[in-house]
Amino acid sequence: MSVGTMIGDLIRSLFKKPVTELYPYVKTEVPSRLRGKLVWDPAQCAGCQLCIKDCPSNAIELIVIDKVNKRFVMRYHADRCTYCAQCVQSCRFKCMGMSSEDWEMAATQKQPFEVYYGKEEDIALFMEQAAKPGTEEPCKE
Ligand code: SF4
Ligand code: SF4
Repeated sequence: MSVGTMIGDLIRSLFKKPVTELYPYVKTEVPSRLRGKLVWDPAQCAGCQLCIKDCPSNAIELIVIDKVNKRFVMRYHADRCTYCAQCVQSCRFKCMGMSSEDWEMAATQKQPFEVYYGKEEDIALFMEQAAKPGTEEPCKE
């Protein structure tokens, strides 16, 4: 590129609207089919684990609290997820989805990328068991 062309571009750009956006201060509307954070409905889950087997990034785990009564906790590693939606496709019970609203997940700590889904009491029970010293995660399948 010649110096003349560069100067021409420079002058033209002074009078053009910026193509960049002032994110995060100004947010554009995202497409309704955007694949954001995984969402999971424990009420429909049969515990079949197909979603886990089909996940290419090992990003989801199913913790079984009580198989007979279908009490499960799902641990989602958002930092491993490739947002491919394979798990959503694989679930025959339509328990899974990808949020088009919850997609801003930048963080300076690792902790927000480990997400637990399930009933509050089941998550609390699992956390309590996991916190016991020398205890492996007993109910993880
Ligand atoms: S595929 Fe669906 S029903 Fe099976 S374990 Fe995953 S979320 Fe539950
Ligand atoms: S969206 Fe893809 S990578 Fe993420 S949990 Fe589902 S199957 Fe795994």
